[in-house]
Amino acid sequence: MFKRMSGRKTESPVWSYFAYDASTDKSRCSVATNNDDDGPTHTCGVLLNGKNVTNLRNHLRYKHKREHDELMTLERKRTEQKEERTWRQSQLNVKVCSTY
Ligand SMILES: [Zn+2]
Repeated sequence: MFKRMSGRKTESPVWSYFAYDASTDKSRCSVATNNDDDGPTHTCGVLLNGKNVTNLRNHLRYKHKREHDELMTLERKRTEQKEERTWRQSQLNVKVCSTY
């Protein structure tokens, strides 16, 4: 079975909106900007230095309000899932203890 061996543990959902280019050390914004006119949709394409998640998030906050809200929802969901896992783990521990 194929297993990914990279340390992507801390990957943020912010990466759904950016593509990092290691050769230039820049992150490119791939949010589709659709202005009120009927022109074609194009991607923002802004290049940000490095891959600092906070920087990327700030760009979303100032330039793409809707995507930023979306990201906040995604991150909240992730946190909730984590908390649920922790809760299940503690329930499991209780079970183990009660067998004594
Ligand atoms: Zn952008």
